Amino acid sequence: MTTSKKVAIVGAGVAGLGAAGYLYCKGYQLDVYDALPEAGGLLVFGIPEERLPKKGVIEGIEELKAAGVRFHLGMRIGASALENIIATHDATLLATGTWRARSLSAPGANLEGVITALDLLVDNAKYRMGFSTNVRRLYGRVGIMGGGYTAVDAVIEAMKWTDQIYVFYRRTIKESEAHAEWESVSKKGIKIFERSLVTRVMGTKRVEAVEVWNVNMKGNVPEFVPGSAQIFPLDFLLVAIGEERTPPDCVDKLGIKIENGRPVIDDNMMTTRRSVFAAGDLVTGPSFIGNALASGLRAAKAMDAFLRKG
Ligand SMILES: Cc1cc2nc3c(=O)[nH]c(=O)nc-3n(C[C@H](O)[C@H](O)[C@H](O)COP(=O)(O)OP(=O)(O)OC[C@H]3O[C@@H](n4cnc5c(N)ncnc54)[C@H](O)[C@@H]3O)c2cc1C
Repeated sequence: MTTSKKVAIVGAGVAGLGAAGYLYCKGYQLDVYDALPEAGGLLVFGIPEERLPKKGVIEGIEELKAAGVRFHLGMRIGASALENIIATHDATLLATGTWRARSLSAPGANLEGVITALDLLVDNAKYRMGFSTNVRRLYGRVGIMGGGYTAVDAVIEAMKWTDQIYVFYRRTIKESEAHAEWESVSKKGIKIFERSLVTRVMGTKRVEAVEVWNVNMKGNVPEFVPGSAQIFPLDFLLVAIGEERTPPDCVDKLGIKIENGRPVIDDNMMTTRRSVFAAGDLVTGPSFIGNALASGLRAAKAMDAFLRKG
């Protein structure tokens, strides 16, 4: 059964694609928009092939394309484009995820060679997939700050360039959501320093070393172990200390209320603008593949109910 109703999805990550699959089966005409040159979001451009083979995801996307879902790729949607999308569709889903990597606020964080891990992963994924000719090359001693999935994946990327890898994590690997993934990479000779916090990046133009303290975390507050500072010479520091939600720019001007970076939604996942819904990491903050998919499906069901009511 097809309907004449049109649905737009902004953000073709797992949440947006899950919603697209569901709404396609319900017969809606779908337009899916994404800033990247291919759909898939973090599954395709963030998580490396070694951990998540892209073939299955790309095949799923190709099926949707072949079925008539219209993908508009390489389009970063801002407020005016979004207003137009909302006006020309019966319902719109925002699923733009968490694409702003938190940057380091320690002294020296602006030195060359200090890179956010997410940017490194995405740029090198684009290069390997043939979408870009720019690759970020690493060499020498590479430090990685963080202990979550992004840090693990930064290690996997760094291992393609060097075998001198040092991980500094303020908690213990056991406490990380990615502890199983750490087990497999830690067998490969990288050095992991737990309860360790980078407090200063040293160098003149480029990073030359970092100062690291041993800490005990009291909630989110580090308690520094007196006299524990050590200096580690480094050529790169990859910063993987979290990501923040990225709704399309200036959406609040369109009547879509944002509080602390998060779109305000009701029980049906509708934002403060009628017919505009939100799902995935954009709503929850950095999460997991399964949660983002479930959230996309929940929003799709709510959109279907909304569209049926008329
Ligand atoms: C490096 C890394 C590794 C991870 N590993 C795991 C793991 O092993 N297991 C696990 O369960 N979870 C993992 N996660 C978390 C998981 O990937 C996410 O929770 C999930 O993919 C989020 O899906 P999403 O659809 O909400 O967002 P995303 O996948 O981020 O998709 C959002 C999409 O919106 C697009 N977009 C953003 N802004 C705009 C705009 N203005 N206009 C148009 N398009 C826009 C983006 O290009 C992107 O394609 C990992 C996360 C990272 C960063």
